[in-house]
Amino acid sequence: MTHVDYAERMARASRAAVDAGLAGLVVTPGPDLVHLCGYQPATTERLTALVLVPGSTPRLLVPILERPDAQAALGTAATEVSGWPDGSDPYLTLAELLPPGGRFGVSDNAWAMHLLGLQRTLPDTTYSALSEALPMLRAVKDAFEVERLAAAGAAADACFEKITEVRFAGRREREIAADLHALLLENGHSQVDFTIVGSGPNGANPHHEAADRIIEDGDMVVLDFGGLMDGYGSDTTRTVHVGDPTPEERKVHSVVRDAQQAAFDAVRPGAACQDIDRVARAVITEAGYGEYFIHRTGHGIGVTTHEPPYLVEGEHLPLVPGMCFSVEPGIYLPGRFGVRIEDIVTCTETGGRRLNNSDRGLRIVA
Ligand code: ZN
Ligand code: ZN
Ligand code: ZN
Repeated sequence: MTHVDYAERMARASRAAVDAGLAGLVVTPGPDLVHLCGYQPATTERLTALVLVPGSTPRLLVPILERPDAQAALGTAATEVSGWPDGSDPYLTLAELLPPGGRFGVSDNAWAMHLLGLQRTLPDTTYSALSEALPMLRAVKDAFEVERLAAAGAAADACFEKITEVRFAGRREREIAADLHALLLENGHSQVDFTIVGSGPNGANPHHEAADRIIEDGDMVVLDFGGLMDGYGSDTTRTVHVGDPTPEERKVHSVVRDAQQAAFDAVRPGAACQDIDRVARAVITEAGYGEYFIHRTGHGIGVTTHEPPYLVEGEHLPLVPGMCFSVEPGIYLPGRFGVRIEDIVTCTETGGRRLNNSDRGLRIVA
């Protein structure tokens, strides 16, 4: 499949809005807009908004000077494009496209000034964040999207193979991060979102990016990297070791690997998100490291690298075929080292399918 049916995506979003009791959706530039209609303008103080009101044709309101760009980007999508001129009140124009009352879903990343302008103009309306009102809006991917994510995953896997060939000992984390950045671009990514290199004790901080620490022989090194390729995200983690690991390092790594495998094996339609987290946590807890697994097991991925669904205790949302998310348990021993193993996984009718397939063993680097 090479063609995205934006009209169908917008129609599905409108139906979901009705089901959620919403009077409509107001979508501003960002991931929701890209997903629904393929339009990705710069985000500025000038209001751009896609309005989906059930029963009406989708309407995109743009600054009049950006109308040609918007029409070109939308192509044949069944969307009417309206322009508002500089010097006019865009919120009045937007208000004319909406029912005068009711609750609307609004993009999580809509600027406060735009939402406040709309609320001032339509005082009888209320708003909910789209990720709360319609958490499933982007969570279930179609076949086209799954294949884009698989391609991004394969590119990230190729980067991992290459990075294990470079020298680690004696180089700074930042240099390895720069190598990863370059590799992602060489392998087809248009945007790099993160290149985490956590060596030795820095690996025990899951959010450590990369710093001036010089990597030494004997270090565990957490490598977590990803970005966007053809509009879809990659995000993978492997933990490598410089030289020979100790028995304890091998053990911690194999516990994380077992936890990751068990969580992957638990992926199936109908399983609750929290169940996947529980399975991973049980393996780590049984091995005695439960208190050192200090984050959720995973997050959704699509046109962004972090989005619903979240694999976390308390999330009862059932997995549905087409959902794509990370499975990334870890163990973090403060002041010593950390291990994390992360794959993007999609839920199919029969179970999980990994979109990352590089070696999950403890790779030895020089
Ligand atoms: Zn070591
Ligand atoms: Zn990651
Ligand atoms: Zn992740």
